[in-house]
Amino acid sequence: MFPEPIHGLTNAELAARARELLPRGHGVARRIHRGVMLEGRFDPESWGLGPKSCSEWRSRFSFALPELVTVKSDENEQGATTKMVLRLQDGLEVESVCIPMGRGRYTLCVSSQVGCKMGCTFCETGRMGLLRHLRTDEIVAQLLVARHRLGWPIRNVVFMGMGEALDNADNVFHALRVLNDEAGLAIGQERLTVCTVGHVEGIRMLEQQGLKRLNLSVSLNAARDSLRSELMPINRRTDLTELQNTLAGYRPRRNFVLGVNYCLLPGINDTQSDARAIAAFCEPLGRVLLNLIPYNPGSQPLTRAPEEPEVERFIGWLRDEGLPVRERKAKGRTVMAACGQLGNPSARRARKALPTLSA
Ligand code: SF4
Repeated sequence: MFPEPIHGLTNAELAARARELLPRGHGVARRIHRGVMLEGRFDPESWGLGPKSCSEWRSRFSFALPELVTVKSDENEQGATTKMVLRLQDGLEVESVCIPMGRGRYTLCVSSQVGCKMGCTFCETGRMGLLRHLRTDEIVAQLLVARHRLGWPIRNVVFMGMGEALDNADNVFHALRVLNDEAGLAIGQERLTVCTVGHVEGIRMLEQQGLKRLNLSVSLNAARDSLRSELMPINRRTDLTELQNTLAGYRPRRNFVLGVNYCLLPGINDTQSDARAIAAFCEPLGRVLLNLIPYNPGSQPLTRAPEEPEVERFIGWLRDEGLPVRERKAKGRTVMAACGQLGNPSARRARKALPTLSA
């Protein structure tokens, strides 16, 4: 694909591609890469190259960020949770969310696909179906827009926006390397998190990437097969036993802590026996941290949002079972930026009117 997006490459990859493709001027590739990644600018002219070299650089490599369509914020005591909508080259849109983590630290929740084919019933993105995978540069671009256009001081990146990250494994694995690249963005693996609904093939492939300090979290949401199959169709293909066995075998490092995400749906998955079932599921998984996420109703709610006493009661049951639990306070509900609220189910219809570009 030409011109090739620079932000879809690591520093070393750009240097190698420039040597391969450019007859001259490739010696500044590493500096050009840092200019793109760290300052958001691509200007070969500033590195003392002649007009011919600059024009060759521009014909072979590009740097164009997606159009920023909207930015909406929801204030809470920790700061503003802000959702941005980006329009890609082919007209499709993706959403990313900047989440305050306290003490001036922010996490960017990025999308890996436009839509999603997993069909989780509590999720707006699931209602869109899968429109297409994002390329590596489109994933990285979300961070570059956040930092360079909006000035957000992002420290951590979590793949928990639109899409199932491990369903787009090649691009997500490459994006992780670009984000982690010490000669570029240099986001430490311990500040990167992949979240999955339990894509077991993807988890096995992730283990082979050798990213030993990377974080992984799995969205459980029900610890009984019948209920989980209703809420999350992937469970009809990969039941809880197979998921549990796969996760038990995922040991990238000795002190690894698996994140287990549980969206609390009042009247659906919030009984004491649900809490016991979660503990039984987690028992063989080594160290886990249960992230309890109060349900955020979307455009077609499954149920209501839980009241704080209901959340506290459920957390108490989980702790009684010996599980470490962290409540993930609802952030961004009013601007549809909270977990499960990203996406635009009407995008599939709108897509018919758009030109087709290869993914
Ligand atoms: S929860 Fe995640 S995997 Fe499930 S439909 Fe939504 S985006 Fe896809």
